[in-house]
Amino acid sequence: MTSSPNLTFNDGNSIPQLGYGVWQVEDDVAEKVVRQAFEAGYRHIDTAKIYGNEAGVGRAIASSGLKPEEIFITTKLWNADQGYESTLAAFEESMDRLGLETLDLYLIHWMQPKQDKFVDTWKALIELQKRGRIKSIGVSNFSKEGLQRLIDETGVVPAIHQIELHPFFNQAELRDFDASHGILTQAWSPLGQGGELLENAAIAQIAAKHGATPAQVVIAWHLAIGNVVIPKSVTESRIQENFAALDVTLDEADIEAITGLDRGAEGRIGPDPAVSDFA
Ligand code: NAD
Repeated sequence: MTSSPNLTFNDGNSIPQLGYGVWQVEDDVAEKVVRQAFEAGYRHIDTAKIYGNEAGVGRAIASSGLKPEEIFITTKLWNADQGYESTLAAFEESMDRLGLETLDLYLIHWMQPKQDKFVDTWKALIELQKRGRIKSIGVSNFSKEGLQRLIDETGVVPAIHQIELHPFFNQAELRDFDASHGILTQAWSPLGQGGELLENAAIAQIAAKHGATPAQVVIAWHLAIGNVVIPKSVTESRIQENFAALDVTLDEADIEAITGLDRGAEGRIGPDPAVSDFA
């Protein structure tokens, strides 16, 4: 069976470049679809406390027959839990739901600049990594300034930065910042949440050329430009189709054409992490 390539973090650990995300998946459905993802070949699952499905992911892990060292699990600290002590407590609750002893990757879900607790929160992640409870630590939805503060105030550089990123919003500047600091970039909503992007004429043309689907072409573009990518689907055939994007190799002209679809800030679907603050 095809397997995902791994990318190496600045802490020496590695992450399967193609993973499976479970935002907006009910807890009981999560168990079924994560099992289907494992059967399709995925070994990297992206969940979060706020998704309400850590327990379902945990049940899928427990019944999969896969050993902890064969899989890579990410979860995220929710905004209301930011702060040093509250992070330590929220982490243990997530681990109980997941049924895991050690976590592969823990992320601060949003920077929450007005709340301004992200440096203390980061210090708790550093402590949990020191204690051996988390292998790698990173962040999601930060600005360059926020990342710089983490680095300046703790000396610990995040392993990865998970951000909204798809061909209509390709985040060239933030990707450059991440790369120049040795931080991997991970793309959320990599398919643009499945709307207009997958009907785009340029993507359709490239898909036809490779005998691939539009979703596979978009995932292949993420892989080609070095993103870690976590597409979501609850349809088994699409879960398999998205994993088979590993077999699609784009040429330079395809990659340039897809990169050229960027719409700048207009292309953003979700909140802007530099200003958004929500519970
Ligand atoms: P996505 O871009 O992966 O799109 C998912 C949607 O695309 C599906 O619901 C379906 O409608 C469609 N789709 C999927 N495969 C398809 C296929 N082969 N053909 C046609 N349509 C297809 O969107 P997402 O779920 O928002 O993002 C992926 C993951 O990223 C999430 O599940 C979650 O794990 C993560 N995420 C993280 C954050 C964050 O704040 N850190 C925010 C959003 C998402």
